[in-house]
Amino acid sequence: MRRLAWRAAELAEIVTETATARTLRFRVPEWPGHLAGQHVDVRLTAEDGYTAQRSYSLAGPADGDLVDLTVETVPDGEVSPYLTQVIEVGDQVELRGPVGGWFVWRPESKAPVVLVAGGSGIVPLMAMIRTRRQAGSRVPFRLLYSLRDPDRRYYAEELRSPGPGLDISYLYTRSAPPGTSRPPGRIMLDDLAEGGWPATFEPDCYVCGPTGFVEAAADLLLALGHAPERIRTERFGSSGQGELT
Ligand SMILES: Cc1cc2nc3c(=O)[nH]c(=O)nc-3n(C[C@H](O)[C@H](O)[C@H](O)COP(=O)(O)OP(=O)(O)OC[C@H]3O[C@@H](n4cnc5c(N)ncnc54)[C@H](O)[C@@H]3O)c2cc1C
Repeated sequence: MRRLAWRAAELAEIVTETATARTLRFRVPEWPGHLAGQHVDVRLTAEDGYTAQRSYSLAGPADGDLVDLTVETVPDGEVSPYLTQVIEVGDQVELRGPVGGWFVWRPESKAPVVLVAGGSGIVPLMAMIRTRRQAGSRVPFRLLYSLRDPDRRYYAEELRSPGPGLDISYLYTRSAPPGTSRPPGRIMLDDLAEGGWPATFEPDCYVCGPTGFVEAAADLLLALGHAPERIRTERFGSSGQGELT
């Protein structure tokens, strides 16, 4: 198997998504391109030579040598607080990728799509949404986005006008905006039955978020009759349904 090389990446732009998350746009000379759903490894090196590396999903289609990552602060985490609070434009990290070949959506695909995001699990699913739009695909997408409260929404402005063929259901776990009929709570069978596609449509399902969330959502999709081979999952780590969803 080909070994991926570490590349120098310079931070070109920062976009604040929420109080605890930001999108980092890196310039990576000779970036080879990537597919929606893939991720990269980011390596930080301290002055004493100590290194730490973590995986981060690519948030959009490749744009020449620019790649976007969106990082959520994990309290007491080693790497994420540096990326969300310390790193500045012009700073360098190392980046390796793209990684992953299963949790991907290709624009030539014709099957309807169900996207199920828990917290920062929206990131690779947003790459699929943006890739669909960029490619002019008419494949119908449905997104279920589980998050703690409305202030946690990533890409809020962009998702406010989703455009034709993309339906979005927000599932708030702690507090919902006034007028929301669904009471706050974790994802349930009815949410997927109403906000997703019926199994008879044979949609491709992509589920991403903290491990507990992904396992719960995938089980619900199975209970609704979706074929296991059509359910693709990506786990970001952490147990339980996650503090962040
Ligand atoms: C394929 C893949 C793609 C990923 N993409 C993204 C992404 O796009 N955006 C993003 O913000 N993160 C993403 N992650 C998670 C990321 O790799 C790190 O795990 C996360 O940033 C925490 O790293 P840390 O060094 O700050 O915390 P650590 O020092 O590694 O951990 C500190 C504590 O937090 C817990 N913890 C670790 N990860 C999480 C988590 N995800 N949620 C809650 N608690 C956690 C640990 O169990 C530990 O107790 C992805 C992970 C994988 C495997």
